[in-house]
Amino acid sequence: MQQTRVDQGMNYYLKFIENYPVLNQLADADEESVLKLWQGLGYYSRARNLHKTAQQVRDEYGGEFPKTYAEIIQLKGIGPYTAAAISSFAFDLKHAVVDGNVYRVLSRYYGIDEPIDTGKGKKIFQELADSLIPESDPALFNQAIMEFGAIQCTPNNPDCESCVLNQSCRSAFNPELIKKLPVKKGKTTIRKRYFHYLHIEKEGEIALDQRTHKDVWEKLYEFPLIESDNDAVPSEFRDSALLCYQTKHILSHQHIYAFFYRTDLKEIKGLEMKFIDKSKLHDYPIHRLMEKYLERNSEL
Ligand code: SF4
Repeated sequence: MQQTRVDQGMNYYLKFIENYPVLNQLADADEESVLKLWQGLGYYSRARNLHKTAQQVRDEYGGEFPKTYAEIIQLKGIGPYTAAAISSFAFDLKHAVVDGNVYRVLSRYYGIDEPIDTGKGKKIFQELADSLIPESDPALFNQAIMEFGAIQCTPNNPDCESCVLNQSCRSAFNPELIKKLPVKKGKTTIRKRYFHYLHIEKEGEIALDQRTHKDVWEKLYEFPLIESDNDAVPSEFRDSALLCYQTKHILSHQHIYAFFYRTDLKEIKGLEMKFIDKSKLHDYPIHRLMEKYLERNSEL
């Protein structure tokens, strides 16, 4: 659920456990079906990792989920946060979770201005959280501190007035400290990208490609694409394509300016065209940007 609201993820969770009630069923599923179920949720590497992890658990642990932190953190796509969450929630082990909420609560309460996005900062906060978590019911502590950050010590306008910690908190009623903490060193740079998509049909078929390289939306399907460094129509089809839709698609570290063109060209230099039966288009896992385009075109 990191970076995703529960109400957004809930239906996906229910669909997953309905389709794969047992871990081995998820492991045995083909990757495309898993991606199809995930379609629309974003962060597709999570779906791929979830699937690979299920296979790892099937192959290395006989289908039974490992029960120690050391083993859990070895699983694909599982870092310290998720390993601590699973260890404490599922197995009652004493491992502190440190997510955005926890960083905020701890940095404000103790007045720590060490940046949270450096190796040193992460270590300091992890050690502090580990020193606070009690032997008894570590899961409750983890849930409570995250929830406290989510509803009491919120990013803007924390409710210091009604806070049970306001007598001892270093930042209580101090707007400057509240604004400053937690400190982040590096600002995320946003990359601008320009995607030019071609909607091409011929005799009941439509051109569709799979993204195979290490990049956003790996393994998902989309129209043939030319990426350029600006919004001008690429020279490869400048005189033979009609712009029919454009949009800006925002991802966490990228802004994608997308242009969709219709064309009758069947061959375009530098693009390998693969056609599929048009009626099967909706069987393929696609990303949200493609979905937006299809939603606008009822004939698809
Ligand atoms: S007193 Fe204010 S800043 Fe301190 S923990 Fe409570 S809500 Fe957060």
